[in-house]
Amino acid sequence: MSFSQAIGNLTGESTLLYQEIARRVEKEKGIKTINFGIGQPDVVTFKRIREEAKKALDEGYTAYTPAKGIDELRQKIADFLSQKYGDKIKKDEVIITPGAKTALFLAFLLYINPGDEVILFDPAFYSYAEVVKLLGGKPVYVNINFDKEKGFYIDIDDLNSKITAKTKMIVLNNPHNPTGMVFEPKQIIEIQEIAKERKIILLSDEIYDYFVYEGEMRSVLQDSGWRDYVIYINGFSKTFSMTGWRLGYIVAKKEIIDKMGILAANIYTCPTSFAQKGALAAFDSFDEVREMIKLFKKRRDVMFSELSKIRGIEVYKSPGAFYMFPNMKEVVKKVGSSKELAIKLIEEAGVITIPGEVFPLNVGKNFLRFSFAIDEDKIKEGVKRIKDVIEKIVDEKS
Ligand code: PMP
Repeated sequence: MSFSQAIGNLTGESTLLYQEIARRVEKEKGIKTINFGIGQPDVVTFKRIREEAKKALDEGYTAYTPAKGIDELRQKIADFLSQKYGDKIKKDEVIITPGAKTALFLAFLLYINPGDEVILFDPAFYSYAEVVKLLGGKPVYVNINFDKEKGFYIDIDDLNSKITAKTKMIVLNNPHNPTGMVFEPKQIIEIQEIAKERKIILLSDEIYDYFVYEGEMRSVLQDSGWRDYVIYINGFSKTFSMTGWRLGYIVAKKEIIDKMGILAANIYTCPTSFAQKGALAAFDSFDEVREMIKLFKKRRDVMFSELSKIRGIEVYKSPGAFYMFPNMKEVVKKVGSSKELAIKLIEEAGVITIPGEVFPLNVGKNFLRFSFAIDEDKIKEGVKRIKDVIEKIVDEKS
């Protein structure tokens, strides 16, 4: 019995491979590995949210909810975003989903026909391309360039040159995984103008919007005409450290949200009832969020200053998310690939990083992604461990 064509060569999260190697190394060498591969905050979900979900469970709030999520939570999100971005966003323009990943899936499912082109920026969060391909769409990549002084920036000329009659969607992620960049507001406005003019849907994944340490983060919802072309994605996973609760949301015009409600009802019925009740308290937890961001900023500073001490690599101090994406071109050239380098760092230093080439094409191939969602001592120890290994490679004669 053969699998569907759609499943094709879809792969799982490739980060698991590195965890596996780490387990082997721990066993063989009897050392504890340090994990810079983590993609989630290391704090437990804030108390108020947990209490609210517990209360909902104790009160027997265990049945199905409406497919688009409970009205109170949709209203809270609409009010919150209206206040933040100065537009009157309505409850009917919001759908709650089981995580931002499902939100992305609904958006792709609603629009992609076989042969449609979807513009992704390279590097990008790995699952965009996988889902586009699953639906028969074609990912088309636009470069994100690196400059040691300016950091990462989108090549707008490249974007213009990649748009064809088949371009259905542009997928933007800001702040950005894996680079940790918060793109210049000017760049976001340019992309918005292009999408509007060329009648392309702009799918904007802003899941790291609270993880901004400096600079200005522009949301696509700041354009009062967003309803004509924007699908906005966010979620509770990162901001409120709720990855396991599986709650995300989409904002788009009502007609789109209604169609997504139909997909939701057929695919998963509704998001988890008591998790949604808990999430109601998230909007009263911003003091805790600010504390967490302060902590992450400190960790970011530590990681930057430690990585900067390593000879042969170029580090840009990420203004956002919780990733640093140093350019290891010189090192990668000698080792062969970012994958081989990542494996070497686990085997020889007991440190897990994510090779840039998994994100998913060309630009990332000289980079490694380091998450600073772990405590400061571990950051210092981890970077100390890789320093010798990397400098030894740099010093090797080619
Ligand atoms: N978008 C990006 C850019 C992410 O990094 C992640 C999580 N790693 C997600 C979406 C998925 O978030 P969720 O847990 O809400 O599904």
